[in-house]
Amino acid sequence: MSDETRTTETDQAEFLAELLAAGLLIESGVDGVYGHGEVFEFIRERLTAIVSEIAKSHGGAAKLSFPPVIPRRTLETNGYVGNFPHLAGSIFGFEGSEAQAMEQGARAAAHEDWSEFQSQTDLMMLPAACYPVYPALADRGPLDPGGVIVDIGASWVFRHEPSIDPARRQSFRMHEIVRVGEPEAVEAWRLEWSKLGVELFTELGLDAHLENANDPFFGRIGRLLAANQSAEELKWELLVPITGSEPTACASFNYHLDHFGEMWDLKLSDGGPAHTACAAFGQDRIVLALLRTHGLDPDKWPTTARLRLWG
Ligand code: ATP
Ligand code: ZN
Repeated sequence: MSDETRTTETDQAEFLAELLAAGLLIESGVDGVYGHGEVFEFIRERLTAIVSEIAKSHGGAAKLSFPPVIPRRTLETNGYVGNFPHLAGSIFGFEGSEAQAMEQGARAAAHEDWSEFQSQTDLMMLPAACYPVYPALADRGPLDPGGVIVDIGASWVFRHEPSIDPARRQSFRMHEIVRVGEPEAVEAWRLEWSKLGVELFTELGLDAHLENANDPFFGRIGRLLAANQSAEELKWELLVPITGSEPTACASFNYHLDHFGEMWDLKLSDGGPAHTACAAFGQDRIVLALLRTHGLDPDKWPTTARLRLWG
């Protein structure tokens, strides 16, 4: 382990301990899964309201809301299972006999392996807030001219990436705004939201900068997909220092070209495939960035940040 890794890990472990001691986070016993105390939620709820207000005043947005589970078929169709097998969470359930239920219960009570009694259901955990939007919009038929903007609100998402880093959760909240429409409009919208993101973070007193990025695709083929995504500048991330020497991605601005339009038969008014983009705010990371930058007590934060959040 390099000195840098050791420092980063020590930094993360210490920050996590501080957050738990202050009651901002509540331990569950599993890495990357935390409850939130009142102060954490007080900040996070304001972030939801502010991002929704920005969406409302920049073209308006239709509100849609989806559960934290998604049909398995959706993630099979959109390639998530193949591209991110290491992050996907599948839901299994029991459909056995009474004897098997007894055996399963006994093994569970002894914390032994009871997985043989479980079989795969039609559901998976939602890994990105925007995924249910595209098939839902496609079901409505061709878009009106000009397309649509959707505010999905704060969604619970799951990614199987246990870590002691308080900024790397398995279960976390992502607030996404999604743009669907003609190519030029969608591309311009993504650029506009990347600027709005930088502006918001700066007003909150965060030391934020934008960078070209890629998704963590799995394996050797995944590296090619990531290189492509990077070369085409399809993912921009807004980075803020939280712990360690590298800043952390707290939001992303993603342009999917006509990928989801083709995949879901999501059509423009002229019958062509819609282009799509999303602005994804990692709420838990933004709250952590604020706590790390300004301290654990919001009453003592700089006035400008307090005013932006609470008016
Ligand atoms: P897609 O393009 O597939 O829709 P996305 O833009 O919805 O992806 P990401 O860019 O992967 O999703 O994530 C959005 C934001 O969510 C990140 O910028 C980050 O702030 C936050 N995030 C991602 N993974 C984690 C995690 N493990 N723990 C906490 N926050 C996370
Ligand atoms: Zn998205």
